[in-house]
Amino acid sequence: MSDQPHETTAKGGFETRAIHAGYEPDPTTGAVIPPIYATSTYKQDGVGGLRGGYEYSRSANPTRTALEGALAAVEDGERGFAMASGLAAEDTLVRATCRPGDHVVLPDDAYGGTFRLFDKVEKAWGLEHTPVDLTDLDAVRAAIRPGSTRLVWLETPTNPLLNVGDIEALAAVAHDAGAMLVVDNTFASPYLQQPLTLGADVVVHSTTKYVGGHSDVVGGALVVRDLELAEQVAFHQNSIGAVPGPFDCFLTHRGLKTLGVRMDRHCDNAEKVVEFLTRHPAVTQVLYPGLPEHPGHEVASRQMKRYGGMVAFRVAGGEQQALAACERAQVFTLGESLGGVESLIEHPGRMTHASVAGTDLEVPADLVRLSVGIETADDLLADLDRALG
Ligand SMILES: *Cc1c(COP(=O)(O)O)cnc(C)c1O
Repeated sequence: MSDQPHETTAKGGFETRAIHAGYEPDPTTGAVIPPIYATSTYKQDGVGGLRGGYEYSRSANPTRTALEGALAAVEDGERGFAMASGLAAEDTLVRATCRPGDHVVLPDDAYGGTFRLFDKVEKAWGLEHTPVDLTDLDAVRAAIRPGSTRLVWLETPTNPLLNVGDIEALAAVAHDAGAMLVVDNTFASPYLQQPLTLGADVVVHSTTKYVGGHSDVVGGALVVRDLELAEQVAFHQNSIGAVPGPFDCFLTHRGLKTLGVRMDRHCDNAEKVVEFLTRHPAVTQVLYPGLPEHPGHEVASRQMKRYGGMVAFRVAGGEQQALAACERAQVFTLGESLGGVESLIEHPGRMTHASVAGTDLEVPADLVRLSVGIETADDLLADLDRALG
């Protein structure tokens, strides 16, 4: 459906685009919010006489079109694509850009599901990959195979160690070798960081996290700035069909509208939590890109508006104390995922990163990860104090 209307033209500041881009009040009813178009098909006015280009809801659905326009606008891209999950977005992008025999450079601390996709699924179809430390530009140059590396894949900040990669520098390295730079922008969200404006070619999101923001929907997105690439992605989105339904699009779009105010509160609360943990005797190290001693602080200060809502810390007393802190917390809910309004706590070594135990990607056993929510900050600090005993 290359002739789909994708209204990405709304201008203005970030919040204005997040609220208005992609949708004009419905011409027949004036509905201010995109209706949930629970329809699989559309009446044609004579054979091939499509209204607004809509033919079948795998190809396009108006609730999805509105979300896709808003996603493109907040990332400053040309076109956005809503997908059924973050991993569905990644798989669709890979099939749109890579062929058997091609090669991809991956972060050596990639999101576990991303690593599994490349290592256990794409590899079986002949796509090779090399994990590398993306904060080391020479290592990235050395890992690139000229002529066959199609993608350099960056996450920044990373999970759970919050390492920071230099988007502008990595875009230059990738482009010098004829490859594209893909940035998984899930942790920062488009409010804090817009990789396409720094030279990246594609932005990937798990909209399940900050964009949706309420832990009530799973989704993914791709945003691109090149129209030829957009055509390839559009073709694969429709041909593979890993698309979200209209209810999911409605929830994700509703979340996106408040992303700016939520992220500012996530950041405010994370800064207070970091300050508290830094002074707590039971904490041996706090990992947060906003701390001047964090190795990625300088790059993060250049490319991010603020430092985000994710915080990791190490606990005196090792794994047992880290596990105990996770289990004693009450306002911080023990659970995986991140980016919702509610605070979450987890033990990466036993939970999100259990699958990399015993490998180079293993995380410290005394590490605790927080997704700092937007509750009353004092309640979060009191809860952490209790959790740390
Ligand atoms: C959760 C996550 C994904 C995968 O997204 P799903 O929506 O769970 O498929 C990809 N990248 C990052 C950084 C994530 O946190």
